[in-house]
Amino acid sequence: MQKEIICTECANRCHLLVEQQGDEIIVKGNRCPRGLKSGREEFLGERVIVHGFVRCGEDKIPVQTSTAVAKGMVYKVTLAIKRVRVSEPVEAGTVLVENISSTGADLIVSEGE
Ligand code: SF4
Repeated sequence: MQKEIICTECANRCHLLVEQQGDEIIVKGNRCPRGLKSGREEFLGERVIVHGFVRCGEDKIPVQTSTAVAKGMVYKVTLAIKRVRVSEPVEAGTVLVENISSTGADLIVSEGE
């Protein structure tokens, strides 16, 4: 099985061709090792929605990524979320940061608990 994937780790947006041969995952088209890792994760479904909170005065607003991101990007996204501040209450679904940490996912306000 082959899968075409666009690497979202940086602005080059390399087109990756990922294929499983036995136990091995072959990635072609990546210009650097990050693309190799990203291609493997995307192919294997090793991606997650990142959740967190951003400050709004004394309150905290629940947020999440709009789509799943590579597990290897979770720490970077979490750090980026900590830097986000909101000056007034916002509705669920509002985009706070587009393409957060160049993952291709937006940071949006989530529904909360
Ligand atoms: S493979 Fe490397 S150079 Fe290409 S988009 Fe991914 S991170 Fe950027």
